[in-house]
Amino acid sequence: MAASPDGPLVLVIEDEAPLRKFLRASLEANGYRVAEAVTAAEGTTLAAREHPSVILLDLGLPDGDGLAVTRALREWTATPIIVVSARGREADKVEALDAGADDYLTKPFGVGELLARMRVAIRHGGPATPLTPVLSAAGVEVDRARHRVTVGDREVHCTPTEFRLLAHLVQHAGRVITHRQLLKDVWGPGYVDQPHLVRVYMAQLRRKLEADPSRPRWLLTEQGVGYRFADE
Ligand code: CA
Repeated sequence: MAASPDGPLVLVIEDEAPLRKFLRASLEANGYRVAEAVTAAEGTTLAAREHPSVILLDLGLPDGDGLAVTRALREWTATPIIVVSARGREADKVEALDAGADDYLTKPFGVGELLARMRVAIRHGGPATPLTPVLSAAGVEVDRARHRVTVGDREVHCTPTEFRLLAHLVQHAGRVITHRQLLKDVWGPGYVDQPHLVRVYMAQLRRKLEADPSRPRWLLTEQGVGYRFADE
């Protein structure tokens, strides 16, 4: 079977070039179309833009953890996710599945096994009524499918990380979210001890969204605890 122009689209999120090349060749030879992402940010963006039938996801990515990518995707899409990782411990698998992955393959694996797992995942994937990709609170709208942020009539251009952070805050508007929770959910469990990341990105978001970043209307600081997106 050759790669067909209307075969199911597979999004491969993997930073190892030889493995991406191997997956593309194997999948195209079996009638799939392939989109490739090298980073967590790129993977999230492509998932929203390309609507793949299934996602193959590495856990160790240069800019974040695949588990965080899984959680972020699960906030708005039921697209099947198969984690493909060198981490083979039971705890790693449980963690990936808890995060919302559908299946788990430990490297190295055979093409036959991969294709079988993909067929199962595609068959069982996708809910009858998809979740809405659009979040809004207090006049700020975050469209997770189109990767667009609007404040009233004004479109705000965000980097992928700014976008994930803002989407998370808007989704939980009105609730205080700790630095640690934000680091875990937006960047990944390996980033919980890097609070400067949240400070830097929150400052950037304020400059983009707020009329007066020093007296924020939406992105509120809860001193010593975390942040809260104003819900009215
Ligand atoms: Ca990797």
